[in-house]
Amino acid sequence: MLKVDPDDFLPTLNKTAQRYFKQVQKEVNYCPTCQPYDGGEYIWILGEETTLEEIFDELDVPERFRGDIANHITCDNCGASNFERYDVDVVGKEDHFDLETQEKSILAERKYGRKIDELQSHLDKYPSLALTTALGRKIYKEILRGNTFFVYKWKMVSREDSFLL
Ligand SMILES: [Zn+2]
Repeated sequence: MLKVDPDDFLPTLNKTAQRYFKQVQKEVNYCPTCQPYDGGEYIWILGEETTLEEIFDELDVPERFRGDIANHITCDNCGASNFERYDVDVVGKEDHFDLETQEKSILAERKYGRKIDELQSHLDKYPSLALTTALGRKIYKEILRGNTFFVYKWKMVSREDSFLL
C-alpha cells in the first residue's frame, strides 16, 4: 500500500517563507467552516471576516511567497485547510469586539457569577420562567432596549424559549 501524506503535495517553504507563514497563521483564527449555517448560507459570527490577501498586505508578505503560504494555512479553530490565494481565501481574525466581550465577561463573572449560576439552574427547572427572577428581568430590559446582539449571543448559549416575548 502506498501511504499518501497530504503534506507531500504542499509546496516547500524556505526559511524566510516559514517566518511569514507563522505570522500569517497566527492571524487565522476562524474560517467559513467554523460559522453556523442557515439554509446553506453561513452566518459570520466567529471572528472578524477578512481575506488572506488582506492579512498578507498587513504583514507585508512578499508577493512570491503568498500563494505557497496560503496552501499551508489551516484554520486554528476547526483545522480546515486547502486555502488558496484568490479562490478560497476568506478567513476570520480574532476581532476586537470579541476581545472586549471576553474582558467584559470576566468582569461580569466577578460581579454576577453566582447570580448567573442561579439563573441557569432556575432555567433548567423552569425554561420559560426567566422573568420571575431579578436577573432575568434585567436581561429582558436589555432586550427591550434593542440590544439585539446581546440577545443573539444569549440565544446561542441558552434556551431559545427562556425569553419568549
Ligand atoms: Zn474553521
